[in-house]
Amino acid sequence: MPLVSDSACALGARQHGRPAGKGASLAVTSFNGNKIVTAGGGGALLADEAAPIGRARHLATQARDPAPHYEHTEAGFNLVMSAVLAAVGLAQLPALERRVAARRRIFERYAAALRALPGLSLMPEPGWARSTRWLSAMLVEPRRFGAHREALRRALLAEGIESRPVWKPLHLQPAFRHAPFAGGAVAAGLFERGLCLPSGSGMGAAEQDRVIATIAGLACA
Ligand SMILES: *Cc1c(COP(=O)(O)O)cnc(C)c1O
Repeated sequence: MPLVSDSACALGARQHGRPAGKGASLAVTSFNGNKIVTAGGGGALLADEAAPIGRARHLATQARDPAPHYEHTEAGFNLVMSAVLAAVGLAQLPALERRVAARRRIFERYAAALRALPGLSLMPEPGWARSTRWLSAMLVEPRRFGAHREALRRALLAEGIESRPVWKPLHLQPAFRHAPFAGGAVAAGLFERGLCLPSGSGMGAAEQDRVIATIAGLACA
């Protein structure tokens, strides 16, 4: 069975020493503006085999047959990344390891300070994996912490600090309200309690201290 891996936000992450997505028939990474390495938009398709990449390239460049005029045996798409954006992305790739290290430092700093507060748990990392910590995410247990995730988000916002709930599961999105689904309780629970803290690679210690102080100010004594 061909396996397609959504590795959109996992560039730089590893599991069992292998880059995330490695081993899938096809892996897709994103170079969207908010990712750890960005080209302003677009992404990359990765595969060990040349054939699916050739096929994707053919479809993404209007499925033109080899002919001096425009000849199409099948309909294609015009989805190729512009050379200018590709150059922007390529120029950033050498910075990937530095950015992963910076994000991991930010996460560790949050973890060291927030672990001591009741009802907060930072996203764990299994021993066999290296997360990029693209986002520093945590769970807020409202009864033990003393405030719901949403109250915490608003308190941060009142200090001019943007944080966000973790992604809303697809089965709870109005667009898919009629779609069948199985399970979903775990994702719904994470959405209810999860919060992503500011974690840009360029974030300074003083900025982070302000986030930590605001969170600590709301915690149960
Ligand atoms: C960012 C992201 C996407 C979307 O990528 P785009 O390049 O913006 O389309 C999809 N899946 C995951 C897991 C992501 O993090």
